[in-house]
Amino acid sequence: MKDFTAYLNETEEIGFVEQVADAIIYVSGLPKVKPEELVVFETGEFGHVFSVNPDYIEVLVFFKKHIKPGTRVTRTNEILKVPVGYELLGRVINPLGNSIDTTKPLKTPPEKRGVNTHPAGIIKRRAITKQFETGVLIVDLAIPLGHGQRELIVGDRKTGKTSFLTKTILNQAKRGNICVYAAIGKRKLDVKKIEEFFAKNGVLDKMVIVASGSGDSIGVIYLTPYTAMTISEYFKDEGKDVLLVLDDLSSHAKFYREISLLGRRFPGRNSYPSDIFYTHAKLMERAGNFITDKGDASITCLTVAETSQGDLSGYIETNLMSMTDGHLYFDKNLFYLGRRPAINPFLSVTRVGRQTQTNLRRDVSREIMSFLNLYERMQSFVHFGAELNETIKATLATGENIIHFFNQTPGEVVPINLQIIAFTMLWANLWEIKDTTMIRKQLHQILEAYSSDKKIREKIDKLAETESFNKLIGVLKTEGPNIIKAVSQKYGN
Ligand code: ATP
Ligand code: MG
Repeated sequence: MKDFTAYLNETEEIGFVEQVADAIIYVSGLPKVKPEELVVFETGEFGHVFSVNPDYIEVLVFFKKHIKPGTRVTRTNEILKVPVGYELLGRVINPLGNSIDTTKPLKTPPEKRGVNTHPAGIIKRRAITKQFETGVLIVDLAIPLGHGQRELIVGDRKTGKTSFLTKTILNQAKRGNICVYAAIGKRKLDVKKIEEFFAKNGVLDKMVIVASGSGDSIGVIYLTPYTAMTISEYFKDEGKDVLLVLDDLSSHAKFYREISLLGRRFPGRNSYPSDIFYTHAKLMERAGNFITDKGDASITCLTVAETSQGDLSGYIETNLMSMTDGHLYFDKNLFYLGRRPAINPFLSVTRVGRQTQTNLRRDVSREIMSFLNLYERMQSFVHFGAELNETIKATLATGENIIHFFNQTPGEVVPINLQIIAFTMLWANLWEIKDTTMIRKQLHQILEAYSSDKKIREKIDKLAETESFNKLIGVLKTEGPNIIKAVSQKYGN
């Protein structure tokens, strides 16, 4: 970009700083300035026009340096743009597009795009038809998502939301899809941990981390999801399926509220500005399933919202729920009971995911939901201390196995075909389980065999194409024990 004098000569307009309110600076005297235009201060810093009033403009700045009233300002006739391109893969950048990791200097991509664009219209969109695999058993089997779906990840603090998201990114990146992770106002240490997790698992080169720290200027934090979305759109236009994670939009809303209050906007409900819904909805609308010049491509957007005391009816949470295609609820009580992930399937919703399922997958998810329902009710008998008959005991035992089956360790991702076969065997008591600790160990072995042994993989993939659940149970009665035997022989149990 050019310097102050060059822009001044070009635009021939000069303004002055009137008042400074943290990240919002009031400037007077730029008659032709447009909303969202970049302005430059004589000290060399840039700011973004946030609103235009008859007598003054509000400029949002992305630095913490103090600007004195009376400082000269000029227009640039340009809007805020961030670099987008393949060069960003494997890097941690700030929302302005500069690298903040310590590896090597970032080769800035040649293309730049405006951060606040309009969502694509209906002509460019397609229905969601392809299942999005998270690698997390309870989600893929019971609450399926689709490529291009926008799903809210909602729950209290420390209930494993980020852990679920990192697992999903890991699975998607392993499948060759591009992942963009936006860390909005997070601690530096948390961002570092996430970066290291992906580097350790060898998928960092498939993703971009856009991070702003809690110590950054609020302007920079506010920008984070927009930059991440713009980068995702670039890869979408390249014909790729992209996963975008926004972690999290409830703190983004808080920073936006701070900016609005500094800008003397009228406070609405909970002091949030009245355009908070519009701000987030316009962003979320940019995700979806699209037709591009390079074929079909999608941006699947997983957005995090934090609840307090498990209250799902908060203002920002309900706003976000109404602009997404469902939500996964991370239940604190289930987390305390040791469930990992602590997703409550009864309070979670998927609006478009089910339409992506095959008949068999739909059968399986229906079976799981009705079984879990039955299991919950049976458990209440146990609390009464009632004498249990054999059927109830058997249901409780199967239920316990299934709950253990759903408990995944942080790095464990399971391909969906394997999920279906393993679940069906467990459900139909074809997988001999002596004690529940065996489930994880054996599933891990089957998973290893699936990825290393082509014969086993082909067999499982073929079985997962069976038309219905009942038919699959029938086939597995003979085939299932063979798979377990083949795996046991391989690993010598
Ligand atoms: P925050 O509110 O800080 O964003 P969060 O909801 O994103 O929290 P995480 O940071 O993902 O939660 O997880 C909280 C804790 O639970 C972490 O210490 C993490 O190691 C642990 N945890 C989450 N999922 C699992 C899992 N599947 N297995 C083992 N530990 C887990
Ligand atoms: Mg988190």
